[in-house]
Amino acid sequence: MTKAIRIHHNGGPEVLQWEDVPTPQPGPGEALVRHEAVGLNYIDVYFRTGLYKSALPTTIGMEAAGIVSAIGDGVDTVAVGDRVAYAGGPIGAYATERTIAADRLVKLPDGIDFQTAAAMMLQGMTAQYLLRRTFVVKPGDTILVHAAAGGVGLIMCQWAKYLGATVIGVVSSPEKAELAKAHGAAHVVVGHANLPAEVKRITGGAMVPVCYDSVGRDTFTQSIDCLAPLGMMVTFGNASGPVPPVDLGMLSAKGSLYLTRPTLATYTSKRADLERVSKDLFEVVQSGAVSIRVNQTFPLAEAAAAHQALEARLTTGSTVLLP
Ligand code: NDP
Repeated sequence: MTKAIRIHHNGGPEVLQWEDVPTPQPGPGEALVRHEAVGLNYIDVYFRTGLYKSALPTTIGMEAAGIVSAIGDGVDTVAVGDRVAYAGGPIGAYATERTIAADRLVKLPDGIDFQTAAAMMLQGMTAQYLLRRTFVVKPGDTILVHAAAGGVGLIMCQWAKYLGATVIGVVSSPEKAELAKAHGAAHVVVGHANLPAEVKRITGGAMVPVCYDSVGRDTFTQSIDCLAPLGMMVTFGNASGPVPPVDLGMLSAKGSLYLTRPTLATYTSKRADLERVSKDLFEVVQSGAVSIRVNQTFPLAEAAAAHQALEARLTTGSTVLLP
């Protein structure tokens, strides 16, 4: 037997139960990974509450780092003993060990420890595709980043600055504003009530070519009003709830805007993309251009407390669960 967090019903953090489960065996093309660290991500909340659907009972979690302890037939990309990490579905990472398709694993470079890997794979690969592919950020661009002191946020602030961009971050408290500034945000707006006016002031009226909004329902309208003509609205999360249906006519009225709702799954679905995106992430972390802030750790058995902190906006940077 092994241990995992299981949910039998959707609901609050209390539905996360630490239970005995049978030790899984790798099938053809799969590897068994013994987890050393598991990443906490906001998407875990969506699966717990039922905003994102899964059959029940289930084990949530999208990201972990550990050691390959067994492989199934036909696996030649990893071997027993390899240090590996992964990010993305299928869910099941809140466990001391799990099986997963071997072609979803990436080998960890020597300089990257398990906690850093578990903290950065999902949030860091997200920052990579958002800044390097969804909208290609160029030196001199001024960009808007919501939840700038969060897990994805602190990585985006650092990476965008490294690319030569000026980051306007949005956060909910002065303490988070200081943190975002210390990680590369040139300007930080506390609260979003007057966001378009603040962005107008900061940009001298030019507004921004791209807005990265992971907050969703509460900020969508203000974010749209921060865009320059032909600007791109990247709505990539629902921390405050999902964005209601959008009137496309609004995009023409506000200046021929672009709107996208991207996911990491699409941007890393091909093995070649997964390798390229993770390599780019390892390079910026190993060079020191981006540092991964593991600002909270919890025992995996206490995942409920970690969820409470994340939803109460009490965390900054990344959070890791320890089996
Ligand atoms: P964070 O560490 O950023 O935590 C969420 C933050 O959102 C909070 O700290 C808070 O920051 C802010 N927030 C604003 N409104 C609310 C609210 N009503 N309730 C709770 N938090 C709120 O989490 P992650 O780094 O894990 O993820 C950030 C976002 O990016 C999430 O929305 C996630 O779903 C999304 N995401 C999307 C991906 C994709 O490919 N589409 C991949 C990865 C993440 P503050 O207090 O400063 O407002």
